[in-house]
Amino acid sequence: TVRTRVAPSPTGDPHVGTAYIALFNMCFARAHGGQFLLRIEDTDQVRSTPESEQAILDSLNWLGLEWDEGPDVGGDCGPYRQSERMEIYGQYARQLVDEGKAFICYRTAAELDELREARRAAGNSNALKPSDLQLADEEVAKRRAAGDPYVIRMIVPEEEGACAVDDMLRGTIELDWGMVDAQILLKSDGMPTYHLANVVDDHLMGITHVIRGEEWINSAPKHKLLYQYFGWDMPQLCHLPLLRNPDKSKLSKRKNPTSILYYQRMGFLPEALLNYLGRMGWSMPDESEKFTLAQMVDNFDIQRVSLGGPIFDMEKLSWLNGLWIREDLDEQALARRLIDWAYNEANLMKVLPHAQKRMETLSDFAPLASFLVSGTLPISEENFASVRGEREDIVKGLQFALWRMEALQQWHRDNIWTELKALADATGVKVKDFLAPIFVAIAGTSASFSVVDSMEMLGPDMSRARLRCAIA
Ligand code: ATP
Ligand code: GLU
Repeated sequence: TVRTRVAPSPTGDPHVGTAYIALFNMCFARAHGGQFLLRIEDTDQVRSTPESEQAILDSLNWLGLEWDEGPDVGGDCGPYRQSERMEIYGQYARQLVDEGKAFICYRTAAELDELREARRAAGNSNALKPSDLQLADEEVAKRRAAGDPYVIRMIVPEEEGACAVDDMLRGTIELDWGMVDAQILLKSDGMPTYHLANVVDDHLMGITHVIRGEEWINSAPKHKLLYQYFGWDMPQLCHLPLLRNPDKSKLSKRKNPTSILYYQRMGFLPEALLNYLGRMGWSMPDESEKFTLAQMVDNFDIQRVSLGGPIFDMEKLSWLNGLWIREDLDEQALARRLIDWAYNEANLMKVLPHAQKRMETLSDFAPLASFLVSGTLPISEENFASVRGEREDIVKGLQFALWRMEALQQWHRDNIWTELKALADATGVKVKDFLAPIFVAIAGTSASFSVVDSMEMLGPDMSRARLRCAIA
């Protein structure tokens, strides 16, 4: 039976790309009467967080995607979190070493740089090959005796020549072995890399079709070789086109919000967002724009995916969302949605600690909290009238703040504060004056909560979107 999976890494906000890949995997499995799994790829222990994992599960659930097996629902092939499967990967890596298909490598970072440099000087690709990395036996013995750190790397072909990889949408693709390096399988701390863990788990979890983003095509030769080394059947591969910004570049948070949480906060309906993701590179046989998940499953044929990069366009999404609001919700249902979306208890409890002390009557609440239930704000020059300084300097300050906020990894009030304070210090402006324009950009008014609290509540993508709007 068909088994597919989505395998997100919990290293940030839940990405719309993850939902898009999950949707196609789920439709493919359902259309073939198979199963769809969710596996958490959290081997990067520095960047992975439990909060991010929870946000991914919650967002995919919010969209109405359902998996048959996963860390939250269990299943026969668990655990479904890679951090709980560490012994398995170590065992398989050592098996490959014993069979001469992988080797222990003691090379230091400085040596690796030199080796790459040497390859470049000789006009070769900088993909390090087993022969580059080999050390004399005595040297290996010496480093082992000294207890030096080592990694396990896979043996790869030294010679040029093509590796043929079959893709369900592209047919046979040829990739040059010359570009394939002796990939690290197990890091010096005993953690597996993506490649080892992904192949081992896809096999042990009985995955038959790997449907993922096109960014992974170049990894396919390594994966194919690993399947051969282990003597396992390789699942069929299907690389979906990546989502793009309207300017055709890869959808990225620098240009457009990519977090599902942003679309939720903007007030898109989950069924509309899912419908729009289903339009990314795919269409119904009758080309209808509006369809439900059930209709998509009923009509699903992966061969209808077109490879031209699908453009994720907010205006198109808004138009579709409007159709859903007007055609599929009666007033009663719409009222319910509004209550659940805006005035749900979780939302209120976030705001009340800041609002309560500023309230004399209940009617004081709406103006205080309006910035939270609004989308992007129509900010223009007049909004900055109360702010001291030249327009040019204000814009510069906002732009610096935006750059910092794009780079911020952990969205927490203290981190936001540290970044903004450092910026103010660097520009030699008093913190209060530096924050004033940011305040306006984020809240639209000057009567609101502290700007860092507001930004924490709004989340990264909405905060960035408002800063961007205020600059434009
Ligand atoms: P950004 O460029 O905005 O920083 P990113 O590439 O760093 O995004 P990741 O956090 O690496 O995003 O990716 C999260 C998940 O979203 C991954 O599973 C990745 O495959 C998927 N993803 C990222 N960008 C796209 C895209 N343009 N189309 C489809 N999926 C994507
Ligand atoms: N963890 C990888 C990601 O985040 C999974 C890629 C794959 O599906 O093989 O995209």
